[in-house]
Amino acid sequence: MIRAKKSLGQNFLIDSNIINKILDIIDIKNRNILEIGPGTGNLTSKILDKAPKKMIVIEKDKNLVKILRDVYGSKISIINKDVLTVNENFLEKEKLTVFGNLPYNISTEILCKWITNIDDNDLWFDYLILMFQKEVADRIVSKFNTKNYGRLSILSNWKLNIKKIFDVKPSCFSPRPKVDSTVLLFQPKKNFIKLDNPKNLEKVTKIFFMHRRKMIKKPYNFLFNGDTKVAEKLRIKLDLRPQNLNFDTYFKLANEYEKL
Ligand code: SAM
Repeated sequence: MIRAKKSLGQNFLIDSNIINKILDIIDIKNRNILEIGPGTGNLTSKILDKAPKKMIVIEKDKNLVKILRDVYGSKISIINKDVLTVNENFLEKEKLTVFGNLPYNISTEILCKWITNIDDNDLWFDYLILMFQKEVADRIVSKFNTKNYGRLSILSNWKLNIKKIFDVKPSCFSPRPKVDSTVLLFQPKKNFIKLDNPKNLEKVTKIFFMHRRKMIKKPYNFLFNGDTKVAEKLRIKLDLRPQNLNFDTYFKLANEYEKL
């Protein structure tokens, strides 16, 4: 009997209907698969049934790794590490299709790591199919002028096209989480505004969204030393609120900030 570790966000997906729906999102036959946090292998075994070309998993819990080794042997390559410390650019020559019912405590950290570490000239993945806490997924997919719009949606939408697939009830997991979950599909964008350092987009959005109900004049002046040239060039009215600026405006602001 496996005791789920709360500290590792272990809520195992036990509803086979939901697992099948996740595997119907794209055709995975002959693809190279990376699964984050395979846990007890509920998703893993269904992925293997679909005959992928290769399957790699990253699992931090060494007790679960022992079980995975016993059950799957050489059918999967297991990396017993914290996913936050792995550099996915070096895992495989061909592109990886990523699945993950992510540990909720670090789900946004994982996504932000991938976005900021993307090697734009040699992208390591083609699709990300990921399960988040619903509240986090709502923030990721939100558009400007809505209450959930903010740093996470801007960063996520910078390099990725995002589609909400479906919500999942707590009863589909063991142990049951307290909240609903959502599956999202991400695909890399072909065109996006290039930045020398993605940290600049994180910095601009952090400062703009520090006070989301206040006018953007103060954060703008802080970043651009009170010079309104950039605001004029991008046609930004400084009496707006942070959620009134669309994705593109933030990407352009970060780009201008880099040039200072
Ligand atoms: N995929 C399984 C399923 O759907 O039943 C388990 C999903 S469970 C929500 C999250 C999994 O991620 C657990 O197996 C947990 O041990 C693993 N995990 C947690 N933190 C991790 C980390 N930092 N790096 C790699 N795996 C991690």
